[in-house]
Amino acid sequence: MGLLDDLIIRAECSGTCKGLTFRYKKSVWYDDDGNFHLKESFRKLKRESCDGFCDENTDNRQCIANAFEEDIRMVGIDEIWGSMEFPYDLEDGCKVKLNINPGQRDYWTGYYEDWNYVINIADKPK
Ligand SMILES: [Zn+2]
Repeated sequence: MGLLDDLIIRAECSGTCKGLTFRYKKSVWYDDDGNFHLKESFRKLKRESCDGFCDENTDNRQCIANAFEEDIRMVGIDEIWGSMEFPYDLEDGCKVKLNINPGQRDYWTGYYEDWNYVINIADKPK
């Protein structure tokens, strides 16, 4: 299988992988020197996320956790972050899921030309 085949399968992945779930944390603070600080983080919820071995018998091609990790290794989190879609109402304490949004298919080959990651809110803080 070539690279393009991998992309298609990844873009269509769903199957048995439970994917990646994170807790979104955001805080803003002000220090004694008059500086403002903003910190955002996505903390992986291990029990609610795939450990990367969901489809070890089918060489990991359909695993969201593995696809995401591989992308981070290949292109870096900076680039991925830049093309990631976030919900407008993301707030501190939200539980979110990482999903893959397949892009356009090439008219002639039927292959996906690209895809991006989407953060969806799974649960709002109570
Ligand atoms: Zn998986």
